[in-house]
Amino acid sequence: MITKKINPFKTGGHFGNFGGRYVPEMLIPALDELEKAYIKAKKDKSFKAEFESVLKTYSGRPTPLYFAANLTKQLKGAKIYLKQEGLGQTGSHKINNAIGQAILAKRMGKKRVIAETGAGQHGLATATVAAKFGFECEIFMGLTDIRRQRPNVFWMEQLGAKVTPVTTGSMTLKDAVNEAIRNWIETLENTHFLIGSVLSAHPYPVIVRDFQSVIGREVISQIKQAEGRLPDYLVACVGGGSNSIGLFHPFLQYDKIRMIGVEAGGIGLSPGKHAARFAKGREGVIEGYRSLFLQDGDGRSLETHSVAAGLDYIGVGPEHAYLNSIGRVNYVNASDAEVLESLRLLIKTEGIIPALESAHALAKGIELAKKLNKNKIIVINVSGRGDKDIFLIAEALNDKEWVSFLKSKVEEAEKK
Ligand SMILES: *Cc1c(COP(=O)(O)O)cnc(C)c1O
Repeated sequence: MITKKINPFKTGGHFGNFGGRYVPEMLIPALDELEKAYIKAKKDKSFKAEFESVLKTYSGRPTPLYFAANLTKQLKGAKIYLKQEGLGQTGSHKINNAIGQAILAKRMGKKRVIAETGAGQHGLATATVAAKFGFECEIFMGLTDIRRQRPNVFWMEQLGAKVTPVTTGSMTLKDAVNEAIRNWIETLENTHFLIGSVLSAHPYPVIVRDFQSVIGREVISQIKQAEGRLPDYLVACVGGGSNSIGLFHPFLQYDKIRMIGVEAGGIGLSPGKHAARFAKGREGVIEGYRSLFLQDGDGRSLETHSVAAGLDYIGVGPEHAYLNSIGRVNYVNASDAEVLESLRLLIKTEGIIPALESAHALAKGIELAKKLNKNKIIVINVSGRGDKDIFLIAEALNDKEWVSFLKSKVEEAEKK
């Protein structure tokens, strides 16, 4: 199929029925300012040069495209290549966007950056660039999440960020978003709101997509070098949708390439047990944009669940909702159990520890590879490395030694 190119700067940020800008009147000038600054930066060679130089020298880009020979051999199907985003600074693709927005904020003369975070990965990436570029930094995080994600909170604080607990509502991500917006309205003059995925009101979904598209651009040249041709399939996990759109977007012009986005199937598709927006979401407007959301008939947000904190979110980027509506990308979901199985398989066959989020893409990529013949090529985006998930993975794999390790650490700490 031919994918029609949309210029979101001409459609007010609409991708078909989705996207747009549904925010309080007071935020419009700030979003206009950001849009203007971005359009200007995009045309400026020195902006591009700085972005590319920081990605290269600070974050280690290009990340490798690795042929998973052992895994391929074991599955006896299509050739599997892994794009190793976990090898970049802070261990996931989130840093690409954080670096891009930090450079943009600096050009806009902002002195302070704020962000909301659920699991803490985006907060960590934001605190990291704040330290590097010299911004004051405040991260809004639900108190429930702060309690669950101590390691990330620890690092954000070490990086110099103020982590502000949010105690309204369910004290999780959506409450942190509301609090961050409230704070932004009061501090627009000197503050940039650093959004972490292809979400929120226009122009954020476009800006984040463009910064993440470095992933797909690199894959195009790397796979040409390795195979002399483009792949047949692309597979990536979809939380808000930034690593997946980063991989997919540069390939959308190639009509024959099939793309698969994998969302969190959790422990089943009944309410509260998953974060499968494509399977179970309804169209609506939440947090400033129109998209698919997990909500009840009255528009109230439903609870979500995933073993991967980064996929555990009620909404999805508007461009994905659009690509789904026209049938260009196929969205499927992987269950927690499938995810843990594929995680174990990758660790054992290739010695690569993927993030739990990325293991969703692996689960469906592996399933697909088995069904295809040996001359097909699949690229799977490994959006992050799994060391951050040691607490969750050890718990999910029911590792008894891990529990006694934690107990002994507690005893040691109490003695001090
Ligand atoms: C946050 C995160 C995701 C999900 O976010 P997207 O915007 O959908 O990419 C996926 N993988 C990792 C490693 C993450 O940290």
